[in-house]
Amino acid sequence: MKLSAKTSRISRYEEIIYQLFKEKAGEELSVYDVLSAINIDKQIIALRTVYRMIEQLQLKRKIYCSSLKDGTRYFMLTNYYYIEMTCRICGWKRKTISEVHCTYTGKPLMNFYVVGGQIDCSGLCQKCS
Ligand SMILES: [Zn+2]
Repeated sequence: MKLSAKTSRISRYEEIIYQLFKEKAGEELSVYDVLSAINIDKQIIALRTVYRMIEQLQLKRKIYCSSLKDGTRYFMLTNYYYIEMTCRICGWKRKTISEVHCTYTGKPLMNFYVVGGQIDCSGLCQKCS
């Protein structure tokens, strides 16, 4: 089965919400974060519309559900990953969110559309390198 990107037209509200995710690239947003950020700019959108637009943006692979905390789903832009870096010498650790464009050539991921996730990196910190 070949997975093709569904890049159908984006509605006006979807565009407003997608722009917000782009402005806040590298951040996770809940439905309520989106609702309050949009309504601050006096563009009054109902909660159920925000839910619907977030579902649509997920179907179009613009954003994905990146985590679930205390029963609240958080979303971020496709291709943004949680990255945990660990120094092999001193054990220094840092967690961040960053945009990553991976090229998968191996068989396990050939028929799998990756939207994001977590990457664990092992290496040397500034002090140890
Ligand atoms: Zn180190």
